[in-house]
This record gives sequence, C-alpha cells and structure tokens, in this order.
Amino acid sequence: MRIDLHVHSSASDGTDSPAALLGLAGQVGLDVVALTDHDTTAGWAEAIAAVPPGLTLVPGIEISARWWEGPGSPIGLHLLAYLPDPDEPELAAALAAVRRNRSTRAQRMVDLLRAGGIDVTWDEVLSDAAGAPVGRPHLAQALIRRGLVDTVSEAFAPQWLGQQFRLPKDDLEVFDALRLIRGAGGVPVFAHPLAHRRGRVVPDTVIAEMAAAGLAGLEADHPDHGPAERDHARRLATELGLFVTGSSDYHGSNKPTGIAVELTSPASYEQILDQATGSTPVASPVTPDRTG
Ligand code: AMP
Ligand code: FE
Ligand code: FE
Ligand code: ZN
Repeated sequence: MRIDLHVHSSASDGTDSPAALLGLAGQVGLDVVALTDHDTTAGWAEAIAAVPPGLTLVPGIEISARWWEGPGSPIGLHLLAYLPDPDEPELAAALAAVRRNRSTRAQRMVDLLRAGGIDVTWDEVLSDAAGAPVGRPHLAQALIRRGLVDTVSEAFAPQWLGQQFRLPKDDLEVFDALRLIRGAGGVPVFAHPLAHRRGRVVPDTVIAEMAAAGLAGLEADHPDHGPAERDHARRLATELGLFVTGSSDYHGSNKPTGIAVELTSPASYEQILDQATGSTPVASPVTPDRTG
C-alpha cells in the first residue's frame, strides 16, 4: 500500500487543481491520498468527483494554529485534520476566521512591500489566489512576476517573505484547534512537528500536552525533517501513545518536493480510519459490469 497523507491543491497554495492532483496521485500509483489544503475544505468536492480507479481519497485540512505561553511571540504550528465533518459549525466558523485573518495579513504584507518600493498590488495577489486562502506563496508569485526572485523558495529568503516582509498570522490556539477537530469527528496529526528549518518548534512538553488534549499522531517522515528529527518524532510518539505518519506535503511547482516521496504505513492509516467519525474516505465508484 502506498499512502501519502498530505498534499496541497490550488484550493490553497498548491499549483495543481484538485482534479489534476487526484489524477497525478493515481498515475504515480498511490493507493491512498489525503487532500489537506490550508484552512479550507473548498477543494474537496472537485477532488471527490475526480478520484480515479484504484485510488482512495481521504478528505482533510491543514489547520494553521499557534502555541503561545509567556513572553515572546507565538510559535506557529500546523495540524492535519483527517476526515472531519466539513459542515460542523464551530470548526467551519473557526476556519472562516482564519481565512479572513490570512487575507488581512496578506494585504498588510502587500502594503509593507509597497512601502519598501516594491510595486505589487493586492488585486493581482487576490486574482492569483483565485478564492484560495491567501498565503505567502501567492505573494511569492507576484515577486516572481516582477523578476525580483526566480523561485518561490527564493522568495522565502530572509530579505523577502521569510523575514523582512513577513507578518505573523492570527491563527487558532492549538488546544482550541484540537478540540474543534475532535468535535467535528476529525483525527488530528501534528504536521512536521520538529521542522526547525521552518522556524521555532514547540518543546516536547507541549507535544505531550497536545497528546493529552486529543492529538492522535505525529508526522515523522516529512521532507523538512532530517534523520534526527524523524527518530525523535518516533520516540516521542511511542512514549505518548501516538501513531506516526509520512507524507510529501506536495505543493505542485510551488515547492521542489514530488508527490509520494514520503509514505504512511497501513497500520497508521487504519488508526485514522478507526478514530474518524466526521466523514468517510472516497473510493472511485466501481464501474457496473453489465456483460455478466
Ligand atoms: P503562510 O501560511 O502564508 O505563512 O505561508 C506558508 C506556506 O509557504 C507553507 O504552507 C508552504 O507552502 C510555503 N513555504 C514555506 N516555506 C517555504 C520555502 N522555503 N519555500 C517554498 N515554500 C515555502
Ligand atoms: Fe503550504
Ligand atoms: Fe504545513
Ligand atoms: Zn502542508
């Protein structure tokens, strides 16, 4: 079984449409793929309609959250929510608020860029996002169009969106997010929990508190984790009674990572299926055999 539980479509900051993504997942021989766009379920319907034969789609979300205690600024973290009920009102309202915050923040980042003499416009960023929750990759595309950088990765350098023109996001408090995911029947997995190269990560004690608050798994195998981080995540998972997953975090041409470069074990996938009550995986309808 080949199982990739974390990919993005153009419904957030990936470049493949949900339908194209499902086609690609089938072509590369995946058995299971989870669509996990940032803070939205808007891509689910198109993905569900495009599941090719032999593939199972796990509808999911990657939720922007933060942990904040004591002095200093919050630490951002991402929670994957598998198979939640997309219409559960509390979760849906919280995600809508996160998307509004993303939009305000991105507009302020455009203002910052313009104040720095970089002539990008909010209109072009909005039209590039085409209804998706706006993220820095959309701003990166504007910088690429200006010829200021060549790639999205370059746009994440400190002198650009990595630091100089970066503003914090107003995300869900992590323990609220865990409660909302479980309340919607979803199964929460901590995405790239130890990816230091993305910024600060939460201490192990917080991961233990998250486990006590309903966290189900840790994404141990992720392109942003080195061998030490993968080992650490596995040890921590064993200690805390969590399962581990592996996923590509594919974003189309916005990132160099290919789909299916990291995989999840069938045993972990089974645990997700056992715990989920919000929605169900989608397999392509079997073509009726009329020939007898
Ligand atoms: P935002 O949610 O607006 O803060 O933007 C974060 C998103 O940018 C992540 O979900 C990734 O898709 C993308 N990203 C983060 N770091 C990089 C990087 N170094 N190169 C390319 N994309 C990145
Ligand atoms: Fe992303
Ligand atoms: Fe993430
Ligand atoms: Zn992701």
